[in-house]
This record gives sequence, structure tokens and C-alpha cells, in this order.
Amino acid sequence: MSINPHKRPITDVTGIGEEKAKLFEGLKLKTVGDLLENFPFRYEDYKIKDLQSAEHDERVTVIGTIHSEPSVRYYGKKKNRLSFRMLVGKLLVTVTFFNRGFLKKQLTLGAEVTVSGKWDRHRMTITGTEIHQGAIQQEQTIEPVYSASGTVTSKMIKGAISQALKQFGSEVPEPLPEAIRTKYKLVSKHEAVTQLHHPTDQGTVKQARRRMVYEEFLAFQLKMQLFRKVQREQSSGQAIEVDQEILKTFITSLPFPLTNAQNRVIQEVIKDLASPYQMNRLLQGDVGSGKTVVAAACLYGVICEGYQTALMVPTEILAEQHLESLKGWLEPLGKRVELFSGSLKGKRRRELLQDLADGTIDLAVGTHALIQDDVVFKRLGFAITDEQHRFGVNQRRQLRSKGEHVDVLFMTATPIPRTLAISVFGDMDVSILDEMPAGRKPIETYWAKHDMLERVLGFVEKELQQGRQAYVICPLIEESEMLDVQNALDVHQILTGYFKERFAVGLMHGRLSSDEKDEVMALFDQNKTQVLVSTTVVEVGVNVPNATMMVIYDADRFGLAQLHQLRGRVGRGDAQSYCVLLADPKTENGRERMRIMTETNDGFVLSERDLELRGPGDFFGAKQSGLPDFKVADVVHDYRTLEVARQDAQALVESNHFWKDPEYQWLREYLETTGALDQGKLD
Ligand code: ADP
Ligand code: MG
Repeated sequence: MSINPHKRPITDVTGIGEEKAKLFEGLKLKTVGDLLENFPFRYEDYKIKDLQSAEHDERVTVIGTIHSEPSVRYYGKKKNRLSFRMLVGKLLVTVTFFNRGFLKKQLTLGAEVTVSGKWDRHRMTITGTEIHQGAIQQEQTIEPVYSASGTVTSKMIKGAISQALKQFGSEVPEPLPEAIRTKYKLVSKHEAVTQLHHPTDQGTVKQARRRMVYEEFLAFQLKMQLFRKVQREQSSGQAIEVDQEILKTFITSLPFPLTNAQNRVIQEVIKDLASPYQMNRLLQGDVGSGKTVVAAACLYGVICEGYQTALMVPTEILAEQHLESLKGWLEPLGKRVELFSGSLKGKRRRELLQDLADGTIDLAVGTHALIQDDVVFKRLGFAITDEQHRFGVNQRRQLRSKGEHVDVLFMTATPIPRTLAISVFGDMDVSILDEMPAGRKPIETYWAKHDMLERVLGFVEKELQQGRQAYVICPLIEESEMLDVQNALDVHQILTGYFKERFAVGLMHGRLSSDEKDEVMALFDQNKTQVLVSTTVVEVGVNVPNATMMVIYDADRFGLAQLHQLRGRVGRGDAQSYCVLLADPKTENGRERMRIMTETNDGFVLSERDLELRGPGDFFGAKQSGLPDFKVADVVHDYRTLEVARQDAQALVESNHFWKDPEYQWLREYLETTGALDQGKLD
């Protein structure tokens, strides 16, 4: 019987004593298993290259003859440069080695040598890193490179791994059952581990990698799917049967027909409400796709079944806007909607809390003021959080705990690329609003340098003359140490001067009290101010359909997702809308982001591009990503495998043989060590 290498201390490897073990511990390598699964982060390719086709700066390995007497130049303190001419095929190139003067005596004119190094195409020079007598064996042409740290070099790690493989390679367990390996033609784990450390060629590395990626994703998805299964089965939620006729009454009372996507999502939510399980659903819909009315329809349906409902949003501005829309839709149908925000105080607050506890309020709309301890519902059945990414896990949990078995719907306008949604929300059901209300025109987006401001303002003025309104977004509210950052106060002053006696300019920023914010927002909403200079506080959810123009200062300081959110404040009515990005990006990445913004209005496309540019860690911020540290897999590039693994995991946790067959022993053990099974035993 083989021993799991993860149970062997790293000191079992010959040549690793206490001292070395300490060094390795700094790299989080404590066991033989850790060592064996510490895969190279890249490979150096020593395959013989034809210099004619090699790229400038590319690493090359060439065979040739020494064509001039090697010479050594000494310079500086203890520095030297060895160089000679070498004939490679028909090309005569110069080879230099730095501080390897000692090699000179091994090199003779006319001898055949193999040289590896960096190819300078323009100067016909190879800066060498390695040289061998004669033509080297072609067998192992790619060399693994490990991430080193401090005194632990890639070479040291390589040596230790070779030794570990020799001693314990045969103990590497096989977590994947035969059936799965055959189905996907995956090499054994032993083979994969060996190939990743001692690669034969790029092809075998690819196969080895493919196998490891699948294993990592399957293990991860098994955990996710098990959590999900357990969550569903444990939560003896309530079955709320919404009446389709009642729903129809609501939908026909609206001033516009719903899109197909809206109707579909409402049905998905209704079906989920009717199931005896607790709902855990994410609604993704691009900015302006009409999530609020979907929420309203579902809330109304639930209220009519005798439950109370809640809608939690991240900002006061948004809470008030939702209050207005929801009152507009629900009050005529006899339902009571009230606002719970931070500014609700004293007697009024006490009265509303009383009415909520009595059950006379049907829908409580609010900020996180909703989850304060003294907010008590009589019979909360359904809760929605809008812009859910703005809330922490705890806040969402607290809302859920305001009732028993509350069904919860999360809404977000930050479209998460499908690739990531699968992994991050593997334990949620996902609904997608992928259709815009009819008549919406795509926002035209332009990128201008700051020195074109005059012309941009001329463009803004034209829109204002048509009776439209404009947002001007600035990144920071006050002078920071970064002197070049525009600040809202300055911009406000400049624009007030510019539009003097023609148009009124409002100012919105995070330092205003909520009363002041309301005032500013109300003026803009009623078209009493035509231009609103603001920081990103208007980013989330604000809806003033008459605003058709947006100018964003220093646009390159924002991420793509945020720019898209901001831009989503315009284009909310029938009229053509415009967005101008003012930016002088200094990096290619920055320029690329501006170009992407001008090219697409589709939040999903943008988020995919954003992900490519930033990588998954940055995309979510490390903390909330919820993604494990994969050793080999990459959720962006390997997303197809992730999808396959998810489907397989889903089927496995539902199947009998997964829980019984010895083949699945290792995977079951894995689930046990991650705590996923404990959850399963709770009931
Ligand atoms: P978001 O999904 O960004 O939260 P909203 O719910 O704020 O979008 O909706 C944006 C605007 O579109 C609102 O003014 C809303 O009343 C309107 N709207 C929603 N659905 C439709 C529809 N089917 N037809 C026309 N207008 C709609
Ligand atoms: Mg919204």
C-alpha cells in the first residue's frame, strides 16, 4: 500500500536536512507531496533553433563550430567578458559570455559546440547562458524553471524534486477513477507529475498539464456542488406559490411591455420560490437591462401570498430612487412600500419599525439600515439585494436572518464573465437578463485627450441646447497628493463659469450629507440643474433618463467595469446618448482599455476583456474572489475544462457510486479534508 506523500515530511528526501527544510518551509513546502506538486511556472526551451527564423531577444540553442580564437576582456572589478565567433550553418555570429572567462581554456578553434542564450538579431550576437562541447543530445530540450525565493534557487528546487521523484514517485496516488481518465484520455497522475518536472517535450507537458487542470477543477467543483446540494436539502425553505394571474395583473399595469428576458427571469424566480428549497439565486443583468421591474414583479407576487418582502441597496440615492419606482408600481395595487435608510430617525423611525413588526408594511426598501438589530419583520418571506457586490457576505447573511427560510435573490450589474461566474458562484443558481428594452440606442463612446476639453464642452453644450442633461465625472473630491488629479470642486467651478447664465451646474460628492445629496439629486432629476459634476457616487443605479451626455475625467484611472457602470447612467431613455472619456493614458494597457470602451457597449464582453487584462485576482480583489489557489489551472484560460468539471461534479455528487465505489475513495477523502462532508452530515 502506498503512503500519501503529503503525509511524509520533506526531510524524508535524501539531502534535505533540518536546515534546508526550513528554507523550503519559507516556500510553503513542508511535505514530500508539497514538493512534488510544486510545479514549474515555465519552461526554458533548448530545442535547436534555426537562427534565420528566430525572433529578436528570443532564447535560442544552436550547434556550430568555433570560428575565432576565444578572447577574454577584463573590466571593472573582477568582471570579464569572453567572446568568440561561431559559425552556425551559414551564419557567422558572435557569442559572448559574461564572467565566465574560465571557459576559455576548454574552447578550441574549430571545435563543435552547443550554445544556449539570448539572440540579438540586429547585432548577430548570442549572449550565452550555457555551452556544451559537441552537439548535445536532443532528448530533454525543455527545462523546468521554478519560482525561487531568497536563498532557494530554481536549481535547488529542481534537485530536490528530482530526488523526491526518485524516492517517492511511485507513491503518488491516483485520485481520478479509470472511467474518467479513459473518457478524457488523461494521463495518470504519476505520469503527469513526472512529465511536469522532467518533460520530454512541449507535447507531453501539455498532456500533463491538461490532466492536472482537470483534477484541480474537479476537486474544486465537487466541493462547490456538494455545498450546493447540502444547502438545498437542508434548507427546508418555504414554498411560496405565486399566482400567475396576479403576476399578469402587475405586468399589464406597467407602462411598457417587458422584454422576453425579463419575462423569462421572472418565471425562473417564481419557480424557485415555489420549490421547498431556500432560494440562492443571482440575477445578472447589464446596466439598464431593467432589473428593478423584474424585482418588483417578484416582490408583488410574494406580497400577494401574504408575506413581507425587503429590497436592500448600497446607497441612499439608490434607495430613494427604488422607493419611488416601487411605490409607483405597487401602491396603485394597494401595497405599502416604506424606506429604511440612515436618515430615518426619531418618532418616524419608531412608527415605521412598529408597522414593520405588525406586518402592515409589505415592502421595506433600504440601505444597510435594514439589517440593524431593531429592524424586525413579522413575516419576511423574500429578500432582494441590488448591486450585491457592494455588500459583504455578512451583510447578506444578516438580511437573510431577518426571517425564517427567507428566499434570497441577488442582483448585480457587474456582469461577471461566465467563466468566473461558474467558479465563484458555483453554489448559486444564475439568471441572466441578456436583452435590453426595445428602442434603446447603443451609447456612442469617444476617447479624447484632455487638451481637447474645449471641443468636448462644445459638444456638451449642443446636447444641453436640445434640452438634455449631462454628467461630468471626476475621480477624487479633493486635492490629494497626486496634484494632477482633477477634483470635483475645481471642475465644478470651471464649468459653472463656462456655462454661466446658460445652464446650471450641480455638484455631488461623497462628503455631502445625505440631505444635501438628496437635494442635489432632486434638482438634477427635475432638470433644475442641467449639468451634474460628480464623483463616482452616481456610479450605482442612478436613473435620470433625460441625461444623455457623460464626460469622464481621467477615465484611465478607472477599471473597465466601473467605467461601464458610470456610462450606464446615460442611454436610459429613447434618445441617442454619448460618453466622452477624457484620458491621456501613459501605458499601453491604459490605451487598450480606452479603445475597448469605445468599441463595445456589452457589459459581458467588457468584463471578459477586463478579466484578460487584469487577471482574476485583480478582477475581484483577492479577498472576495473565493477562488482557491490552483497549482496548475487558470480559470481564465482553462474555463472550458472548468465547465466540464462542473458538470461532472454535479453528476457525481448525485450519483450512488461516487459515494460507494473504492475508485472514488481519494476524492471522497479530499472532500472530507476540506470540511465539505461535515456539512453533509449535519442533517
Ligand atoms: P438596471 O438593470 O440597470 O437596474 P433599471 O431597472 O434601472 O435598470 O431600468 C432602467 C430603465 O429602463 C428604467 O427607467 C426602467 O423603468 C426602464 N425599463 C425597464 N424595463 C423596461 C422595458 N421592458 N421597456 C422599457 N423600459 C424599461
Ligand atoms: Mg439597477
